Amino acid sequence: MLIYGKEIREKIKEDVARSAKKIPMSMVVVRIGDDKSSQAYVNGIKKFGDETGVNVEIASLSAGISLEEAVKHIEELNQDPGVNGIMLQTPLPPHLDVAILANVIDYHKDVEGINNYNLGKLISKQEGVKPATPKAVISMLKHYDIPIEGKRVCIVGRSAILGSPLAMMMSSENGTVTLCHSRTRNLGNETRNADILVAALGKANYITPDMVNEDSVIIDVGINFDENGRMVGDVHEESKAKARIASAVPGGVGLITVAELFDNLRIISQNNIV
Ligand code: NAP
Repeated sequence: MLIYGKEIREKIKEDVARSAKKIPMSMVVVRIGDDKSSQAYVNGIKKFGDETGVNVEIASLSAGISLEEAVKHIEELNQDPGVNGIMLQTPLPPHLDVAILANVIDYHKDVEGINNYNLGKLISKQEGVKPATPKAVISMLKHYDIPIEGKRVCIVGRSAILGSPLAMMMSSENGTVTLCHSRTRNLGNETRNADILVAALGKANYITPDMVNEDSVIIDVGINFDENGRMVGDVHEESKAKARIASAVPGGVGLITVAELFDNLRIISQNNIV
């Protein structure tokens, strides 16, 4: 059975729109350079803002900007009382380090939940702003009443914005987590053993049917494009057909991620946890 993100997105959208009527919310997306792959994501954020009454500004900085200038720009946004949330669009040009710039963002305005303060809160299990994509994965499982507690959860991919924080969040939900990466030996042994398999490695159709078991739940987070420009996940369609439940790509986690970003903005704007 395939599962989708639309209903969850709509529910979050309603909550955000309701909040935006009570308190004005404003977010700035800092975009450095003109990476084509991120344009659709930025457009999606702008559209969600328009639909919910949230002001979204795109700060487009040139690809050749120095680290010092980029830091100065973010610091100005930190100081601007009219800006509630700041998001740093990736990928950045190669001379800029996302780990440095993400930590220039004031943690009160960190809508992505990726600076060290918010990641620290995640590890110490304190309430805080959580990274949007891992949040979307958990929301999807909960929406479909898929229990995490006591389950073997295998996550493929350990990036700082996705796999690693998701591992912490799955553990907080009392799943037993295996975090896999490019040096994992016999990846299939790990993925086949999972009750819940999350694919977040960024390789089209990489998880083949021999790597999954029939009773598993698969959450496919990957967003890749095949030679015809069609969006495909990290999990092969035949693997999804073999599993008990699998999330769609497109139409799955990706639909929820933008909504979770705005949910973070709502939390920050209400200023009730940071
Ligand atoms: P990333 O920073 O490139 O990280 C990829 C991770 O996958 C790394 O930890 C890497 O291992 C691991 N990996 C790569 N090849 C592997 C292999 N053959 N076997 C096992 N592990 C492997 O990517 P990301 O930013 O986390 O994104 C991952 C995917 O999610 C991409 O397709 C991206 O487009 C998608 N994404 C989707 C959403 C959404 O809303 N649905 C949001 C964000 C990202 P090492 O650590 O050893 O290098």
